[in-house]
Amino acid sequence: MHMLEQLVGQARGLAAGETGLTEKEGEVERILKICNACRYCEGFCAVFPAMTRRLEFGQADIHYLANLCHNCGSCLHACQYAPPHEFAVNVPQAMARVRGETYASYAWPRAFGGLYQNNGLTVALALAAGLALFLVLTLQVTGGLLHAPLAGNFYAIFPHNTLALMFGAVFGFAGLALSLGVRRFWREISPGEMSGEAGAEAAGNVLQLKYLDGGHGQGCNNADDAFTLLRRRFHHFTFYGFLLCFAATGVATLYHYLLGLPAPYALSSLPVLLGSAGGIGLLIGPAGLLWLNLKRHPLQGDAAQKPMDRGFIALLLLTSLSGLALLGLRDTAAMGLFLAVHLGVVMALFLTLPYGKFAHGIFRSASLLKWSIEKRLPNKLQLGSE
Ligand code: SF4
Ligand code: SF4
Repeated sequence: MHMLEQLVGQARGLAAGETGLTEKEGEVERILKICNACRYCEGFCAVFPAMTRRLEFGQADIHYLANLCHNCGSCLHACQYAPPHEFAVNVPQAMARVRGETYASYAWPRAFGGLYQNNGLTVALALAAGLALFLVLTLQVTGGLLHAPLAGNFYAIFPHNTLALMFGAVFGFAGLALSLGVRRFWREISPGEMSGEAGAEAAGNVLQLKYLDGGHGQGCNNADDAFTLLRRRFHHFTFYGFLLCFAATGVATLYHYLLGLPAPYALSSLPVLLGSAGGIGLLIGPAGLLWLNLKRHPLQGDAAQKPMDRGFIALLLLTSLSGLALLGLRDTAAMGLFLAVHLGVVMALFLTLPYGKFAHGIFRSASLLKWSIEKRLPNKLQLGSE
């Protein structure tokens, strides 16, 4: 019997309960054993060289490799054993399903892990709560949806310290929840000791989204066999747009507390320029990602996670749209209304950061760091290319 067929038979013979793996992890294990014999996709991304360092795949290995996968789709479209072949090898889909499980199982507090599974509802409730809160507060201050123009002074409605306290508390909780979740993941995947070189390489891979280049530089597969760099580019617009918005808030905070320069700032000021550039990035990136998501090949990824993907993209889009609209209308009688909408959306985004799609960036970064550490260690099997 062909070696691959033997492996398929062995893997199918292992019931998930016998290995201690969940059904979805068992499917990744089955597929990885086939891939380990085939190795056609070795140059596509970090998953395959990391895989070749192992002959057996325990739960921690599967969690690590699942989060190392960027879901670029290349290994699905290149695979001679992909469906409808009887081996039904679909690496990106199997990895995506396990990733969804890992986000929930490493969530902090653990009881909140279920929010990932019902993420569409979670985002909808957070958005409704955020909008209701800030619309009611605005109505209390201004007495109506429209008011006498306030020369772009947001703090005439919400004092700076009130906003700093509210958003600082929610963002602080989101940061804490994500840190504690990824810390447990990090411990369980036993990363080893990090060198400066490994850290710098991983940071470079994260910042460039290196593994969305398909391994050949031409990009991912999205809807079909054609390669496209658009997914990488739209991720960059989103990621750097998000960072620029953060930088704008950081600079405005320094202006306020250190320099004693309260808002509103001129259109030519650094906080407004950074915020505008970030807002445009957060408009182009999520719009493009939503378009790609809608066209995505049905065999790529996990259909059950589409509400989570699209909910997060929608929140990012609403954040940039409402922020740019607020900037454009800040000198008008509608400033309070648009301020309430923008703050409500941002609050919903922050509230759902630790329990939605944002988590993929954190867990993938941790896996990329482990890979940069691992590839520098001697390969005990001496079978891989790294
Ligand atoms: S995805 Fe398919 S072609 Fe690629 S290594 Fe696995 S079995 Fe081979
Ligand atoms: S989908 Fe892309 S990133 Fe994931 S394992 Fe396949 S080639 Fe690697």
